[in-house]
Amino acid sequence: MPSEQRCTMPAPSAATFDRLRSLVAIDDIDARQSKVIEEVFTGKELTTIPIGTAADVDAAFAKARKAQVEWAQRPIKERAAIFAKFRDLLMKNREFIMDVAQAETGKVRANAQEEIVSMLLNSRYYAQNAVEFLEPKQVQGLLPGLTKTVIRRQPKGVVGLIAPWNYPMALSISDAIPALIAGNAVVVKPDSQTPYCVLANVELLYEAGLPRDLMAIVPGPGSVVGAAIVAQCDYLMFTGSTATGLALAEQCAARLIGISAELGGKNPMIVTKGANLDTVAEAATRACFSNAGQLCVSIERIYVEDEIADEFIRKFADATNNFSMGTSYDYVHKMSSLISEDQVKTVSGHVDDARAKGATVIAGGNARPDVGPRFYEPTILTDVTEEMECCRNETFGPVVSIYRVADVEEAIAKANDTKYGLNASVWAANDAEGEAIAARLRAGSVNVNEGYGPSMGSVAAPMGGMKESGLGRRHGPDGILKYTEPQTVATSRVVNLGTPPGFSDETWQKMLTPLLDVVKYLPGR
Ligand code: NAD
Repeated sequence: MPSEQRCTMPAPSAATFDRLRSLVAIDDIDARQSKVIEEVFTGKELTTIPIGTAADVDAAFAKARKAQVEWAQRPIKERAAIFAKFRDLLMKNREFIMDVAQAETGKVRANAQEEIVSMLLNSRYYAQNAVEFLEPKQVQGLLPGLTKTVIRRQPKGVVGLIAPWNYPMALSISDAIPALIAGNAVVVKPDSQTPYCVLANVELLYEAGLPRDLMAIVPGPGSVVGAAIVAQCDYLMFTGSTATGLALAEQCAARLIGISAELGGKNPMIVTKGANLDTVAEAATRACFSNAGQLCVSIERIYVEDEIADEFIRKFADATNNFSMGTSYDYVHKMSSLISEDQVKTVSGHVDDARAKGATVIAGGNARPDVGPRFYEPTILTDVTEEMECCRNETFGPVVSIYRVADVEEAIAKANDTKYGLNASVWAANDAEGEAIAARLRAGSVNVNEGYGPSMGSVAAPMGGMKESGLGRRHGPDGILKYTEPQTVATSRVVNLGTPPGFSDETWQKMLTPLLDVVKYLPGR
């Protein structure tokens, strides 16, 4: 397994972290308890972050509610312009932002760049299209011509946003952008391991002109800060595990507020006889091991037709053995670190359990403390059976199992045989065969001829999960309209709907009823 020496390029300086720390929505930060943030590549202390409390969340909400009232009065175009400016600032500062992402998460540079791309695409898409999505829309009224009916989009109010650590920028900033453009304020709880990934971008948002109270960052534990956010937000945007998402959905239901929940997956890939195996083998390394598999849309199961299975396994193993790991703040390596010792434990637990129960390790299968304290090799397993932990449960690490199937029908049935439904990947003889298989898969996104990139980067199309992989969608029109309350304003222009003087109710109704037949011939809208 190739690896290289530790890189000596510096992580962001202490002064930089001090500047970013001052942006948290916590007063008297020096008097607070704080949590150590480590550089993931080395395990050494980088900086600290103050730990927020429920009272900090209350204060952030009070300020956010005030700021939101003024913000919602501004024209959509004016709100959107701030995000167009943010986009330009991000482009200018992207190397620094990627340094922060790498230092705090242990990602390789290419995966840090995916975060930048997500924020660039979302800020452009929503800044350019917000007016079209949000402006009032006239629809056919009760009595055409006599009544005017308009659907308006009011912001929800203050959106709570709870984010995970794996793509801490894309899954906080990119989701906050449409919420803010729609006229809401946002209170964010970053994951406790990755607060600076959020703060580094919030600094640019403030510089672009976003009022500070409108987007508050309160770091702290989920059980305290997260719970306080869920207790008072007007809508919840949550990304994280299915277990947490289910619990939060119950709490939102009790308050009758909406939730968008982007949750876990056990994503399948299907490889049919006609696929080009050289191409698939290379692409499968990215599909399974990008961000060390700590990616919600990462592939953890591969179904391959028996006839080509041996050749595919050989080629995929070769490509995996060349997937270089290392700790550098540049583009040399493909395979990143896991974020924490806990993640190493989960991943090695799944592999050791599978090995002990008879699975075959085709590639990888070992922790690599010689590269960095939290590295684990990209790992391919075969002969995986139902009683093994990794068979049905999400590993959320660089571990994939290959299953042989008799034909495409069996591949589709097995791919769908899961409680999850987030992403899937299909490799076939041609696009038409791939797309026909895609239509039969119960997954929120399916990538034909790739692993996850095309759907994740198509920000005009909805992204989210079926079954226990989630509720609601990010991206596309759904990704901004969910942050609004539709309001119908119907104006009666000429007549009072009540019976006019001089008519009996019966006569009046008899006169109006034929109008329903007229409506039948109008164009539908
Ligand atoms: P997690 O559910 O443990 O934590 C996510 C966030 O929720 C963190 O900020 C955490 O502090 C907070 N939290 C935890 N308990 C809480 C509570 N009781 N109340 C309020 N907040 C609480 O998830 P994780 O392990 O950090 O993230 C990995 C999981 O996220 C994986 O399952 C992965 O598939 C999923 N994920 C999904 C997507 C997607 O778009 N579908 C994207 C990334 C990650």
